[in-house]
Amino acid sequence: MKNIVDRFISYTLIDTTSAEDSEKCPSNPNEFILARQLETELKELGLQDVKVDDNCFVYGYLPANTDKKCDTVGFLAHMDTSNATSGKDIKARIIENYDGKDIELSEGIWTKVEDYPQIAELKGKDIIVTDGTTLLGADDKAGVAIIMDVLTELVSHPEIEHGNIRVSFTPDEEIGSGISHIDLNEFKVDYAYTLDGGNINAIDYETFNAASAHVVVHGNSIHPGDAKGRMINACQVLMDFHAMLPVFERPEFTEKREGFNHMVGMSGTVEKAEAYYIIRNHDSALLEKQKKEFENIRDHVNKMYGKQIVEVGLRNAYRNMKEAFADKMHIIELANKAIEAAGHKPVSEPVRGGTDGSQLTFMGIPTPNLGTGGMFYHGNHELLCIDDMKEMVKIVINLVGNIVERGQ
Ligand SMILES: [Zn+2]
Repeated sequence: MKNIVDRFISYTLIDTTSAEDSEKCPSNPNEFILARQLETELKELGLQDVKVDDNCFVYGYLPANTDKKCDTVGFLAHMDTSNATSGKDIKARIIENYDGKDIELSEGIWTKVEDYPQIAELKGKDIIVTDGTTLLGADDKAGVAIIMDVLTELVSHPEIEHGNIRVSFTPDEEIGSGISHIDLNEFKVDYAYTLDGGNINAIDYETFNAASAHVVVHGNSIHPGDAKGRMINACQVLMDFHAMLPVFERPEFTEKREGFNHMVGMSGTVEKAEAYYIIRNHDSALLEKQKKEFENIRDHVNKMYGKQIVEVGLRNAYRNMKEAFADKMHIIELANKAIEAAGHKPVSEPVRGGTDGSQLTFMGIPTPNLGTGGMFYHGNHELLCIDDMKEMVKIVINLVGNIVERGQ
């Protein structure tokens, strides 16, 4: 049987960066390569109903090994990585018995305690880092590896009682569009947990409401020598558009329950310029107000130029799932108990992000999010604590036991 670290590192070798502007699912065909590998691994473990569907969802089923009636639980992790940082040619490196000091990822690239004080707490543990030129992909390949290892444990220890368990590895979480393609006939569960967080004592069930905006400006290119009164430089108009959005509603100025508009990318020429934004707020009414602002600015600019040169495409991604848990708090409690039994203090904080669970919850499957032991996601300093990842396997096994114990 493969160990959890080898599994994780093998997953990082496949570049599964998802693409924001893609209309396809998966947005990166490489996600199928990882999906096929996971399909093979699930079959090796002897799971049932193992398949990869056309949208690149991997499914597997581990039937109960007990007569006790209990809920069917699902576990999910996403296969894609964020396009905020390159996910190509990832060179994962293990640091054993980490000394708690600054880490030289490669020559001249440092993860410093001064900038990332949390790393000091990892002293004495084994960690995995990058070479400083790519992300690591612990988000969320650590989640995939943990689920695989949990299944390995359960299959090789039939004395551990468990109910029906379904797992799914999913595409395109980072662009918010993947999970809507899940086949709930393949993933028939009472509730589920994503393993897509950081700290292993965290259980998240309050997230942002999320949308995205695609702003396109159509300019008018003319030789700059003859431009007076005629040229419309799309790049300039796009910068003007951006400047009209509220300055202090950017991620770098917001915290806690404050929402933001975040430009994640832009490109352009005189002829055409475009930008992508993500829009976030815990409060759904405020999110709608932010979306409306994009339309108001579009109308304002178009009016100024007397023609439709700006287009705004708005899309909803996921919703805050908290309200859905009001009468289902046992799903949170089962995880709290599992975390406590492993000797940690469970913590639930409003997440300044979202997970596939946010959407799944509104599709009828309550799905809070658990940790993986990863840190500093979406950047070159991303790292994964191996000890915590292994601890998470124990927590999930505790959780599976709690579900049996609770019964139906
Ligand atoms: Zn993630």
